[in-house]
Amino acid sequence: MNENPFNNTANAFSLKSDKDLKKAHFIFSSMSKPWLVDLGSKATMLALNWKLPVKGIIKDTIFHQFCGGTTDEECMPLVEKMFEKGVSSILDYSVEGKENEADFDAVVGKKLTLIHMASENNALPFEVVKPTGIGRFYIWQKITEKKTLTPPEELEWERIYNRVDLLCKTAVDNDIALLFDGEETWMQDAADDLIREMMLKYNHGKAYIYNTIQCYRHDRLDYIMELYEDAKANDFIVGAKIVRGAYMEKERERAIKYGYESPICKDKTATDEMFNHVMHYILDRLDTIKLCIGTHNEKSTLDAMKTLAEKNIEPNTNDVWFGQLYGMSDNLTFNLAALGHNTFKILPFGPIEDVMPYLIRRAQENTSVAGQTGRELTLIKQEMNRRGI
Ligand SMILES: Cc1cc2nc3c(=O)[nH]c(=O)nc-3n(C[C@H](O)[C@H](O)[C@H](O)COP(=O)(O)OP(=O)(O)OC[C@H]3O[C@@H](n4cnc5c(N)ncnc54)[C@H](O)[C@@H]3O)c2cc1C
Repeated sequence: MNENPFNNTANAFSLKSDKDLKKAHFIFSSMSKPWLVDLGSKATMLALNWKLPVKGIIKDTIFHQFCGGTTDEECMPLVEKMFEKGVSSILDYSVEGKENEADFDAVVGKKLTLIHMASENNALPFEVVKPTGIGRFYIWQKITEKKTLTPPEELEWERIYNRVDLLCKTAVDNDIALLFDGEETWMQDAADDLIREMMLKYNHGKAYIYNTIQCYRHDRLDYIMELYEDAKANDFIVGAKIVRGAYMEKERERAIKYGYESPICKDKTATDEMFNHVMHYILDRLDTIKLCIGTHNEKSTLDAMKTLAEKNIEPNTNDVWFGQLYGMSDNLTFNLAALGHNTFKILPFGPIEDVMPYLIRRAQENTSVAGQTGRELTLIKQEMNRRGI
């Protein structure tokens, strides 16, 4: 691999029409202005609250860039088109911030439908679950902090446990793998323990259940090493989705507020090193740990590809998947797929007002022209030049 395969913009944007490409250029240029993102986010939320007719414009711009549709059916033509290019999808019902039992049951119901849908379509090999989407944050936190639950809380936890178990069992029965998202450290131990229990119960012969390892945490190499020893001793397979981590600011602020050592690596280089270590630790143990690499970082992706090649592991091995979010880093996803690697896009969907928090997060993280947005814009311009538009 002498040339960077990720500079191939013809592959990267093969599904984008000229109009789509110009729109993407407009969106990423707009997002590169932090003041505009700030103002736009607030104005959009106000307009939606006041029921002003803004849904059409949102749907046609930022929603179109980062979401697959308002319903799962609406996503399917896109899922099929991506699959023709070798890219799988994970349909992510991206409704956030719900906090009551009826909402949690509704999310589980939706996920069960999606698992059944996935079982009938090779383009959908995984489903995703966010622990706090199916149980109150407060309960996950209380267990993580080893506080005693009250009797009603015990019942609440039992319901959360049963939801998790039902989702895992349904995924296994339908031969679909289930990825659990990683969230804030002050609730994560409870999720880690429960997901480990599910791996012990269901991950035999294959990884059906995957936990997320957030490598911006300085304790995560120790964590994966312990999990590996545990899996060896107790005869189960580990499913690990590795990411850098999305809650850095929140984590640091809380550590300062309550006066404990921040669980986050001291700087970006330390996070990159941790990601690198965890990734290589797993790549050396693919018999026991199955890996999903969730990143938009080109260097990490190239490193993983190079390591697989050095180990003579076929790119299409089911032991290693690469994943990116829909609307970002198409140059990675589509070029990885063109080289025969297993790749997926996380394809969020849901009613416009409900996916707004997700869209605002995407806009906010894309404000730095120095980073990802700069790269996206350069590639989009390169492809526009190539097409002469
Ligand atoms: C398929 C997929 C699934 C994901 N699932 C989850 C999930 O379940 N949970 C979750 O938390 N996130 C998740 N993410 C988001 C992910 O954690 C990152 O926030 C995002 O992908 C950016 O990191 P990167 O590796 O792509 O790129 P980069 O741009 O190389 O890295 C940016 C990341 O580096 C870290 N970082 C930046 N500055 C510093 C600093 N000063 N000190 C220490 N660390 C720093 C932060 O984690 C930041 O997000 C997912 C991402 C993808 C693509």
